[in-house]
Amino acid sequence: MAVPKKKVSKSRRNMRRAHDGLKNISPIECPNCGEAKRPHHICPSCGHYDGRQVRGTAAQA
Ligand SMILES: [Zn+2]
Repeated sequence: MAVPKKKVSKSRRNMRRAHDGLKNISPIECPNCGEAKRPHHICPSCGHYDGRQVRGTAAQA
């Protein structure tokens, strides 16, 4: 196995991890109810995805 030759300093380690943070997601408007939702996720308020109901609403569940 490859072995690191030198200890990675706190500075270098932190510089590497500077890119590890999560980027802000840009919510989109649900085509069904108009509520803000994450892209490629079902709508949290009406349970629609791809133009159809995929999960019962809070009232039904
Ligand atoms: Zn919706």
